[in-house]
Amino acid sequence: MIKRALFIALFLVSGFSLVYGQKYAIVIHGGAGVMSKDKMNEAARTNYKAKLNEALELGEQMLKNGADATDVVVKVINVMENSPLFNAGKGAVFTHEGVNELDASIMEGATLNAGAVAGVRDVKNPINAAREVMVNSEHVMLSGRGASEFAKQQGLEIVPNKYFYTERRYQSLQSLLKRERERTQKDNTGTVGCAVLDSHGNLCAGTSTGGMTNKKFGRIGDSPIIGAGTYANNKTCAVSCTGHGEYYIRLGFARDISAMMEYQKLSVTEACKKEIDKLSELEGTGGVIAVDADGNIAMEFNTSGMFRGYIKSGGEKEIAIFENE
Ligand code: ASP
Repeated sequence: MIKRALFIALFLVSGFSLVYGQKYAIVIHGGAGVMSKDKMNEAARTNYKAKLNEALELGEQMLKNGADATDVVVKVINVMENSPLFNAGKGAVFTHEGVNELDASIMEGATLNAGAVAGVRDVKNPINAAREVMVNSEHVMLSGRGASEFAKQQGLEIVPNKYFYTERRYQSLQSLLKRERERTQKDNTGTVGCAVLDSHGNLCAGTSTGGMTNKKFGRIGDSPIIGAGTYANNKTCAVSCTGHGEYYIRLGFARDISAMMEYQKLSVTEACKKEIDKLSELEGTGGVIAVDADGNIAMEFNTSGMFRGYIKSGGEKEIAIFENE
């Protein structure tokens, strides 16, 4: 009897330390862009930081409980997709035609499985649709109406396009339409992303966005493109990007970071910095977050700010918006 109780206790303790003793790390972004302390008032900063904190703390709690990286990435991105603060889900920017078209992708580092949706107008949480594509289809990327139909079949929440309406993003489109030729990155800020190392040693990254204000002709950015806006490989790192998507596609941005780590043995920070340098050479702008297989975090950008934050199992934590913060 005593022996049996001892055995059960040992079993429980070893199970506990197997899950809870392992290293984990989570890093998120809520978009990079032109940001200045003068233009963003204290209340806005507090709001953004509180939402980033809510997302990070949810992720940390899940990781502590042994959740796998993919579940964490999806749930954490959902927090930001459901907030009007970010250019993803609820707060998505408007296309030239005045509608919202959303893109998202996810990739697992253990299997190199990936899923993505592009140009969807009615899926409440595009990151969930990306996950369904990865898990329940033979494909990697679905677009437009087909992607919505698939999401519906998988039982995901479908909403009318007006669900994504926010006055702030609508006014942004109106002012860009007025100054059509001065098309800049203004107010695209807010793409969201998450990269995770879970307590089982697996990496996963996901990205979700409304794209760029005033986008035309079914434009798709880097965010739903595996290797451009999102990448994960257990041998190297998990990466999520934010910025002017066309440059990220041309650079094969996220995959290039993984390749530099794999072939040139660069650290995750070195590889991210080098890739941002390549972006700057092309005069592109944006940022990137990444976590490597040891739980090291990188958060690099060449803009004046990027909503960002991370938590590591050792207790290290940071949430920041501006450069040198
Ligand atoms: N990368 C996104 C896109 O080009 C936008 C962003 O991250 O700001 O669609």
